[in-house]
Amino acid sequence: MILILTPDIDTADKRYQELLEHLDNLPGVFYRVHREVGQENVLTELYLIGDTSSLEEADMAALPCVERVVRVSRAYRVLGRHRDDLRPSHFDYQGLRFSQDNLHIFAGLCAVDNPQHVELTMRALQENGLQCARMGAYKPRTNPYSFQGHGRECLPYVFELAGKYGIKVIAMEITHDTHIEEIREALAQTGHPTGVMLQIGTRNTQNFELLKAAGRQQEFPVLLKRGFGITLDESLNAAEYLASEGNRNVVFGLRGMKTNLGDPHRNFVDFTHVPVVRRLTRMPVCIDPSHSVGTLQRDPDGISDLAHATAQGVIAGANMVLVDFHPEPSKALVDAAQALRLEELPHFLKDVGIAREAWEKRVALMREHS
Ligand code: PEP
Ligand code: MN
Repeated sequence: MILILTPDIDTADKRYQELLEHLDNLPGVFYRVHREVGQENVLTELYLIGDTSSLEEADMAALPCVERVVRVSRAYRVLGRHRDDLRPSHFDYQGLRFSQDNLHIFAGLCAVDNPQHVELTMRALQENGLQCARMGAYKPRTNPYSFQGHGRECLPYVFELAGKYGIKVIAMEITHDTHIEEIREALAQTGHPTGVMLQIGTRNTQNFELLKAAGRQQEFPVLLKRGFGITLDESLNAAEYLASEGNRNVVFGLRGMKTNLGDPHRNFVDFTHVPVVRRLTRMPVCIDPSHSVGTLQRDPDGISDLAHATAQGVIAGANMVLVDFHPEPSKALVDAAQALRLEELPHFLKDVGIAREAWEKRVALMREHS
C-alpha cells in the first residue's frame, strides 16, 4: 500500500509526526519514506510493507497528511501500474520529459573512439534536430583483449562537445559504481554542459549492488536494459531495485534475447514486449534495434532488418530508441557491423516519424471506439 501525502509536507510538522507514530504502532507493518524533489513541489510517499491486507483504504485515507491511498499488487511496488494508480508515468531531466507518451531518439557511438568522431556525431545530431545521444565510454566486452572503452579519460571532451552542439542528455553505460562518481566529477569539471542517463547493460541487469548504487542517487536517471537470458519479470524486478533505493527515474530498455533461435539476428528481437512493459509499469520503454538485430542486412525493397525492428517497436508505442551511428562504421572499434552512417540519419528519422505517426493514429482509433 502506498500513502501519497499532500505536497510539500514539512517533516517537522506535528501532523506528519502523528502519522508516523500511528504507522509505527501498526503490528507487522513497516514503511519506507520516499521523497521526490520536483520542479514545483516535494512529493512524499510512504510505502507500507508487510501485513497490509487488513488495513482499510478508507481508514488510511483519513490519517493526517494523507491525500490518496493506492493499494499495490506485490510486484513492482514503486514502478508498477496498480489499480486506481494515478501516479505519473513520466519524469523530467535536463528540460526534457521522459514519458510513456512521447519519443526520444538517442543516436550515437556504441563506443567513443576519438574526439573527431565524437564531434562529427554530435554535429550531425544537432543538424538533425536531436537533443540526445548515446556515447559508450565503459564497454563490457566478451573478450578481455578487446578495446574496453576510453573510460574516464574521454568524459571531458565528450561532455564539452555535447554542450557545444546542444545535446542535453547522453546515455552512457556504467559497469561499476565508481563510474557514477567519475561522471559526476567530469560534469562538474566541465561546467555541466550536458546531462547523463546512466545505462545499465544487459550483462549487469541483475548486478544488484550496481543497481543499488545507481538507485541510491537521484541526480541521474537510469536506462536499465533487459537481461538477455532472464524472464521479463526478473528484469522488471531489477528495475524495481533502482526505485526501491530511491531513484524512480528509470527507463526500461528492450534489446533482444540471446538464443540461436533468433538467427540470423544477433539477438531474438523482443519488441512485442513494448506494450507489456507499458501495461505492467509506469516506465518509459526504450528499444535498442542495433544490439538486438546486430546487422544491416536489407529486404528486397532495400529496407534494413534494423529499420524494420525500429518501426515495429515505435508502432507499438516505444518511448525511446537507442541506436548506433558512426561517421565511418568500418573503423568503429566496437560493433562496426551494426552502426549506421551519419548520412543515413535523416532517412532513419523520417522512417521513425512514419512509425510514430502510425502509432498515434492507432491510439486515436482506439479512443474513437472505446
Ligand atoms: C550498449 O548499448 O552499448 C550495450 C552494450 O548494450 P547491451 O547491454 O544491450 O548489450
Ligand atoms: Mn555495442
